[in-house]
Amino acid sequence: MYYKESTLVYLDGQWLHPKSLDCSLYSQTLHYGIGVFEGIRAYKTPRGAKIYRGRAHYQRLLDSCAKMHIKLDYTVDQLMDLTHELLRKNGLEDAYIRPLVYQGDSMALAPIEETHLFIATWEWGRYLGDSLLKVKTSSYQRPNPKSTHIEAKTCGHYVNSLLATREAKSQGFNEALLTDLNGHVAEGSSANFFFEKDGVLYTPPLGHILPGITRQAILDLAEANGIKVEQKFFTLDEVKQADSAFFTGTAAEVAGAESLDDYRFPLPWKDSLGHRLSELYTEDVRRPETVEATS
Ligand code: PMP
Repeated sequence: MYYKESTLVYLDGQWLHPKSLDCSLYSQTLHYGIGVFEGIRAYKTPRGAKIYRGRAHYQRLLDSCAKMHIKLDYTVDQLMDLTHELLRKNGLEDAYIRPLVYQGDSMALAPIEETHLFIATWEWGRYLGDSLLKVKTSSYQRPNPKSTHIEAKTCGHYVNSLLATREAKSQGFNEALLTDLNGHVAEGSSANFFFEKDGVLYTPPLGHILPGITRQAILDLAEANGIKVEQKFFTLDEVKQADSAFFTGTAAEVAGAESLDDYRFPLPWKDSLGHRLSELYTEDVRRPETVEATS
């Protein structure tokens, strides 16, 4: 699914086939979850592959490394160049891009220097369909921001995401909605959350969530198109009086919700601000004039 005979990946300065990779089972990342990654999309445009908000993603990767005391010697420009090169080598334009920064061997709970950068790309076609999500309030909360750097995209945080999706899916739901340690709504397992009430959108402020690149794109598009968005803390009870709701993320893009637990959002998705923003987002990701230039 992720590669074929001709696929190449980037690993520490080399272009290699995924089957020839040699990753140690003593890596500190594998045992303890200390590593960081990104999920980025490239879209086909008349002027070639556009790595959507790629610089923001790579800046978040570097910021995540710094927070996690992981030393990575690359600049945003270098990371963008490498990614363009990798897409070219793999002949991909509509693609998913997965950079992973992982650490060398150590079973000790001590800092180590050895750091590796892996970048893989695979084909990611146009997502079709507008099926709405049945959402379950998770019994799991997002991690306490005083126990970790919740704004970093760190491998270990995804145990929390996986627990939430496993619980939700085992009960027949499509997605989980997690609260923070104060009981306010935080985000989905791998996407940020918005709801609409009386023509205004609401989304939690930063603090207990991943600062999503798509969330920021939606805030920018809303502002440019006169849609009011308020960032504030809110409860599940408020969501259960909303007109409509949606998630945002690189993979999910803008995904509408049908229901939260036994509450059905009454506004038809096609008439919602989320739907309007999903159309604006679809245009934005493929808009050629905003292709980020690198060499
Ligand atoms: N929250 C979490 C926990 C995530 O894993 C993701 C996906 N990276 C998001 C939100 C959405 O972030 P982005 O829009 O940058 O993909």
